[in-house]
Formats: sequence, structure tokens, C-alpha cells
Amino acid sequence: MRKKKIALIGSSPIILIIANHLKNAGHKITIFDKNKKIGGAWAYYKFRNHYISTQTNVIVPDTKFEEKNIPLINEFLKKNFQTKITRNFNRFKPLGYLAKKNYNYNLNSLYEKVSQDKNIFFKKRFIKKIVVKRKKVIIDNLKYDEIYITTYCGVENLVIDNFKIDIKPRPIVSEHAMVITKKISKKHLAYSENFDKNFDRAQIRQINNYTVFTARVRKEKKGKNLLNLIMNSKIVKKKSDIIKIIKTKYKNYYRNFEQRDFLSRNTYNTPINYVNSALFVESFFSMNDKLKLIKRNYL
Ligand SMILES: Cc1cc2nc3c(=O)[nH]c(=O)nc-3n(C[C@H](O)[C@H](O)[C@H](O)COP(=O)(O)OP(=O)(O)OC[C@H]3O[C@@H](n4cnc5c(N)ncnc54)[C@H](O)[C@@H]3O)c2cc1C
Repeated sequence: MRKKKIALIGSSPIILIIANHLKNAGHKITIFDKNKKIGGAWAYYKFRNHYISTQTNVIVPDTKFEEKNIPLINEFLKKNFQTKITRNFNRFKPLGYLAKKNYNYNLNSLYEKVSQDKNIFFKKRFIKKIVVKRKKVIIDNLKYDEIYITTYCGVENLVIDNFKIDIKPRPIVSEHAMVITKKISKKHLAYSENFDKNFDRAQIRQINNYTVFTARVRKEKKGKNLLNLIMNSKIVKKKSDIIKIIKTKYKNYYRNFEQRDFLSRNTYNTPINYVNSALFVESFFSMNDKLKLIKRNYL
């Protein structure tokens, strides 16, 4: 098999999994990310050797097929990245689908393995335009055989054989709170899409001796003082129970269904591989169809 030079844009978990797979197949891999911090919408904060995602992140099935086959993803993550996976006995349906079984995933080992791999190169750059000429991809003045782009990448234009295609996304900036506490005054919560008047997507987890609350600040509460919101939501009884508050803003390059379909059609049969990464489980199975990440047949 010919060894290829392959570029990938972004560092969300699915991109890291693809990069690792392609590197194992012997290709030369470069990941472009505008941020130094990897993870994309799954980025984490390192607190006393724990990697805690600063956004509310869950890996959950959205269909019966995904629910039946999620054990194959678990097996893959354990085998390739030694991912720690435990059963989550709460029943919740963040995507509107109520699965019988849910799991907790600790993706630390994925981040560590890929970011420390000497054969995967990281370049901190924002890629605005991708040019394809004579079946080669040109970005950042360098030539690649192929490129992988995801649904929420910020690329604005493709120029394929001199034909310009506008794929501009709609940036949405969300605000997130992470509160590391000694003692929380709420029950553990696997996930809630509608937490209270200050926060919507929320999660309350035990991480060793700490209880961690992560949530997205409601649209109408963006820009407000985070400590006030936390106290107002009665996350802790007293301020001294808080060990740390981390406030993050995340810029998501949003694309709706129409734009995803447009991207998919316009990159078909070109060296641009479009990964529909709108949700993790969906992106994993669609990549598996293409790259055969897992060798076993679906259940
Ligand atoms: C706040 C938030 C929470 C989410 N939580 C979940 C969840 O719990 N479960 C789930 O299944 N899905 C979740 N999603 C959906 C999520 O978008 C996908 O799971 C997945 O992360 C999408 O991957 P992506 O690469 O398309 O985008 P992102 O995860 O947003 O990653 C994009 C990455 O590419 C970089 N980048 C973007 N554009 C460029 C560019 N032009 N040049 C260079 N670098 C660039 C960014 O810095 C970033 O690292 C969430 C989305 C958001 C916004």
C-alpha cells in the first residue's frame, strides 16, 4: 500500500481516533488545530492528574442500531486506548432516545496516546481554505494526498479544480461552568438537558474525592457573574465548599443539516474526506464503514 501524506483538521475525539488509525496504517499524519488545547467540544481541564471535560460530554446512542452496537465501540476504545468505561446506572436521554444501558467514559488515555505520539504532527493553524488541484490537497502552502474535515470545522471555502465552493459555517459561542467541589448540595446527575433557570446541559460526577458540576450557561444568562449563578442555583451550600470554578467559552462552527448534506455532496469522490461528526456515536459508525476501525460485524 502506498504511504500517503494525510492532513486532518481539528482534534475532537473522532479525529484523534482516525489519526491514530491512519498512522497505524503507515501514513504520515498532520493534525491542524487553531487551538493548542486538543479535544474540540470535548476539551478538558487538568486538575490534580484528572482530565475533566469542561463541557458537558456524554457518549450515548441515538438509535436502536447504535444502542445494540455501542459495545463494539467500547471494546474498540478499551483495546486501542485503554479507555476506562463504567456502567452508568442512571437512565437519561440527552438526544431524545432512551437507551437501556449508559456508560461513563474517561478519554484521558486517548488524549495522552495521540498527543504524545511522535509520528503524529500537530500544527497550530486556522485553516480557512482548502484547495484541491490534480487530486492533491493544498493547505497552508503544503501538499497532501488526502484531508479529513468534520462537520463543525471552521473552513470557509473549498476550491476544487478551480471551482470555488462556499462552506462557511455559523459560529456560535457558548459559555460553560465547571465547579470542582468538596461537597455538592445536589444529587449526582448523569445528564440533564434542562437543569434549572441558569444552566441547561448539566452533569454532576464524582471524580475521586471531588464532586464536579459541569453545565452550559443558559443563553439569556451568558456574560453574568458565574459565582453568582452557581450560588443562585444552590450547587453548593457555602462558597467555601468550592475548590475551583473554571469558566470556558467554546466557539462551535455550526452547520445545519442542509450544510452537512452540501458538504458531503461536494466532497464526494475528492481527496477531501468529510466526517459527519455532529454526534460522537454516529461519527464513529460512519467512519467505521469507511475505514474499518473495528473488524467485527455489527450485532
Ligand atoms: C459544547 C458542546 C458539547 C457537546 N457535547 C457532546 C456530547 O456530549 N456528545 C456528543 O455526542 N456530541 C456532543 N457535541 C457535538 C460535538 O460537536 C461532536 O461530538 C464532536 O465534538 C464534533 O466534532 P467536530 O470536529 O466536528 O467539532 P469540534 O468538537 O467543535 O472540534 C473542532 C476542532 O477543530 C478546531 N478547528 C475548527 N475549525 C478549524 C480550522 N478551520 N482550522 C483549524 N482548526 C479548526 C477547533 O479548535 C476544535 O479543536 C457537543 C458540541 C458542543 C459544541
